[in-house]
Amino acid sequence: MQTSQAIQIANLGFPRIGRQRELKFAQEKYWRGEISQAELKQVAKELRRTHWEWQAQAGVSLLPVGDFAFYDQVLALSATLNAIPERHRNQDDANVDLDTLFRVARGRAPSGKDAPAGEMTKYFNTNYHYIVPELTVDQEFSVAYEQFFDEVEEAKALGHAAKPVLLGPVSYLFLSKAVGSDFDKLSLLPKLIKTYADILARFSDQGVEWVQLEEPILALELDADWQTAIATSYDTLKDTQIKVLLASYYGTIAHHQALVSALPVAGLHLDLVTAPEQLALFAENLQPEQVISLGVINGRNVWAADIDLIAERIASVANDLKGRVWIAPSCSLLHSPVDLDVETELAPALKQQLSFAKQKLSELTQLKALLTHSQNQSADSPAKAEVDAILVTCVARRDAREAAADKQVIDRVAALNSDDYERDTKFANRQTIQQQKYQLPLLPTTTIGSFPQTPAIRGLRSRWRKEEITEEFYNDQLRQVTRDTIERQLKLGIDVLVHGEAERNDMVEYFGEQLQGFAFTKFGWVQSYGSRCVKPPLIYGDVSRPTPMTVEWAEYAQSLTDKPVKGMLTGPVTILHWSFAREDISREEIATQIGLAIRDEVVDLQNAGIGIIQIDEPAFREGLPLKKSDWDAYLKWAVDAFKLSAAGVTDETQIHTHMCYSEFNETIAAIAAMDADVITIETSRSRMELLTAFEDFEYPNEIGPGVYDIHTPNTPTVDEIVELIEKAADKIAVRQLWVNPDCGLKTRTWDEVEPALKNLVQATKVLRRRL
Ligand code: GLN
Ligand code: ZN
Repeated sequence: MQTSQAIQIANLGFPRIGRQRELKFAQEKYWRGEISQAELKQVAKELRRTHWEWQAQAGVSLLPVGDFAFYDQVLALSATLNAIPERHRNQDDANVDLDTLFRVARGRAPSGKDAPAGEMTKYFNTNYHYIVPELTVDQEFSVAYEQFFDEVEEAKALGHAAKPVLLGPVSYLFLSKAVGSDFDKLSLLPKLIKTYADILARFSDQGVEWVQLEEPILALELDADWQTAIATSYDTLKDTQIKVLLASYYGTIAHHQALVSALPVAGLHLDLVTAPEQLALFAENLQPEQVISLGVINGRNVWAADIDLIAERIASVANDLKGRVWIAPSCSLLHSPVDLDVETELAPALKQQLSFAKQKLSELTQLKALLTHSQNQSADSPAKAEVDAILVTCVARRDAREAAADKQVIDRVAALNSDDYERDTKFANRQTIQQQKYQLPLLPTTTIGSFPQTPAIRGLRSRWRKEEITEEFYNDQLRQVTRDTIERQLKLGIDVLVHGEAERNDMVEYFGEQLQGFAFTKFGWVQSYGSRCVKPPLIYGDVSRPTPMTVEWAEYAQSLTDKPVKGMLTGPVTILHWSFAREDISREEIATQIGLAIRDEVVDLQNAGIGIIQIDEPAFREGLPLKKSDWDAYLKWAVDAFKLSAAGVTDETQIHTHMCYSEFNETIAAIAAMDADVITIETSRSRMELLTAFEDFEYPNEIGPGVYDIHTPNTPTVDEIVELIEKAADKIAVRQLWVNPDCGLKTRTWDEVEPALKNLVQATKVLRRRL
């Protein structure tokens, strides 16, 4: 078979952190002045070399370059485009260098002047955060930073063919923010495209054949002017010598099919994991000669793919479009952990279900073997043996998954009916009953759950994990911390207390470790932002709660005081979003299972005498789909999962929830539908502006708008808090209001927390007299 006809293996990008988080540690050492910039760059170079080698071994023909980045790839692109805020620029020369980048990202670097860092925000619906480019009305662009070009040379020197990968001009502009004055960002597009053309010309001079330009905004619903911008940009860029692979990901782009199919690009990448159905449409409309890159291996999850089924699904396209088909992960592998091989402690049954970035490359190799074999039945027998082995593994894996199902959980979900989602009576009635029971003053004060996680507490936990201290000693020490936390709150005069969460390292991991169906890796890290990585739990099986998880701590805390102590749980939607969830059942079903597990805990807390229970849902909004048209379906099941977790209690039990933000304009109806007796939100930085959504909606239940910004070490004064509560009272009836900080206090010190809470209680007293 001629190679020109062969299916090619492509990759959009590889994680940069290293399988032992080498990049994180090297960057942090550099920031602390412990290693030189040359040493940091050496670590980076080593990582790139290894990652390219893995990809080459798997048969990836064009290796991504530019997926590597210090801190963030959007920031590296800003540097390349010379779109660096004035305040971060080098003083004496026009150069943009690595320290410039770090100043944008962190506000400081080993060299240069400190200046406030650039804003960071979530990259689409992922947990990756990028540095938002700041563009001014008279913004100029020019090629100012050499990293991409240097890396192309580096790849070449290692004998690899490089495919530079960059965010495309329109998505770049879309993700940036206009600063200085309010202007139409699209006015900058002609200048921006010109610099992109310069960049592509440089690549072309370097002998690059293909470049990957990513336009993830295609997964969104775009206004006409943004659609036009896509057409204009690629029309202009077609004059460069280079072949453009236009990459989309994270969702279907079928709604932009006519636009996309008409673009003069040499190739098109589709995410066929989130949207398999768009394949036929784009394949039919492919231009002659155009390449189609099929993103069939999930770049954002950890599960081994059913490659036999994928092969069946794409076989006819692969056959019809011979020589023009690439197979690839759905998106950059940036979002998956690096290498499963280093996980030596996972149960073999689980491990065989998993696939991290490096293994996903092998899956593509295997998929190619299956497709090639089916196209060429006369293949010799070793190939047939290899193919048979792959098929057997796929089937065995599915069988194992099915055999592991927990029938009890499945039956319980199947037996649910609408009553299970509703409290016994309506809020108005519950409110009266709860008022009678708790006799809380007007503007009750409370906190969000956690109190300072001191170095002593963290040290204790790490010694316990290493088995240097006994469980008994550990728990005993934590009880002392809890007692101290309760005493401090009593002294401060807070009305509804919390136990402080000293025993928790992380609000999802703590529960995941106690729930059935969850597993944890040792090195399954994924970059969240900069040098920060997270290690999400794996939800691999049906979820249930074998024994109470928090009851002992809550009971202990409650035994120390007559004031109510709030039980503290993480909600089902947040647990789901912050985990790697299985893919063989729907997210809705998983959320329902977790909802039931949390419900069991809620009921046990109530039975143990805990009358106020908070179910945190800080990630509720994060789960919103990219397309508005998909929002309702998501909100329906997310609200239901929360309600299921909360509705097992009697009317007397007061359910709180907490969310770490306050942009509820478009979701307020869903928030109200959750029917929590009290919701606490983050409102101090917006100075209660965002409470307007609740006001306009006439939100009926109680609300605790945050009056203390816990993200800064500053102490809010009594006057400031009084003013904020008054602003809140302008919008919401006083009898509906609670007084609390914006979020948990675990990242603060007691020296910061105590004076702030003292002022919070004082401000409340002032207002109780006045209102
Ligand atoms: N109860 C948690 C805490 O106080 C809530 C954390 C969060 O909202 N992210 O820490
Ligand atoms: Zn919060």
